[in-house]
Amino acid sequence: MRIDILTLFPEMCNSVLGESIIGRARQSGKVEINCIDIRDYTLDKHRRVDDKPYGGGMGMVMAPQPIYDCFQALCDEIGERPHLIYLTPQGKTLTQDRVKELSQLNNIALLCGHYEGIDERVIEELKPEEISVGDYVLTGGELPALIVADSVSRMLPGVLSDDECFEEESHFNSLLEYPQYTHPSVWKDREVPQVLLSGHHANVDKWRRERSLERTFSRRPDMLENADLSKEDIRFLSKLKKD
Ligand code: SAM
Repeated sequence: MRIDILTLFPEMCNSVLGESIIGRARQSGKVEINCIDIRDYTLDKHRRVDDKPYGGGMGMVMAPQPIYDCFQALCDEIGERPHLIYLTPQGKTLTQDRVKELSQLNNIALLCGHYEGIDERVIEELKPEEISVGDYVLTGGELPALIVADSVSRMLPGVLSDDECFEEESHFNSLLEYPQYTHPSVWKDREVPQVLLSGHHANVDKWRRERSLERTFSRRPDMLENADLSKEDIRFLSKLKKD
């Protein structure tokens, strides 16, 4: 898969994407992620990419021309139109289900706004999918773009060591994950649950499934509506409801 991030701050994205799991995945070619500087496409002789808003008001607005030309150059380079996403607090909130769907695509392009946002006409012209990372406002689309790039990349084959890594994780199957423990087995008088030390895999699985159901029930009961539940899960949940 190829992901292109269109931004005024490519170094901000590159530094994060060079580290840890995603950094290794890029190096080994499991995912290609490029950070493209929108400023390289401005036709302004002073390399400006923004201007004051028409109608007055605070801040600056990113001009349409550099964004449009940057995206067209990308389409020409790839030889097809990547799926374009504009990161905006006005978009649909990102979910794990949407992440799963995006990870099936060959090419996605992530457009980062900055300042007061981008000129509406380039949104009308390019018709991107609009994605928000939550109901709050950040200074730019770079952190949201990194969230999309990270969450999508980790779903690609071979990026995580084992597919089960994400299949049991929170939100993958509309459940929150069970609690995790590592060494030492006792810390500040707190013991790791005995069952996890037993080596009995069936009991460990049962314990984890129940903790996962318990957590989802108490923290995010809304998620249970979409969860794939066995008869045993349903029995366990009805017991929880009674208590
Ligand atoms: N004036 C815009 C508004 O009220 O909708 C907010 C602009 S924000 C300060 C600057 C840029 O940050 C946006 O164009 C967008 O790319 C990004 N951004 C800020 N918050 C975001 C969020 N919650 N999700 C996705 N992108 C966000």
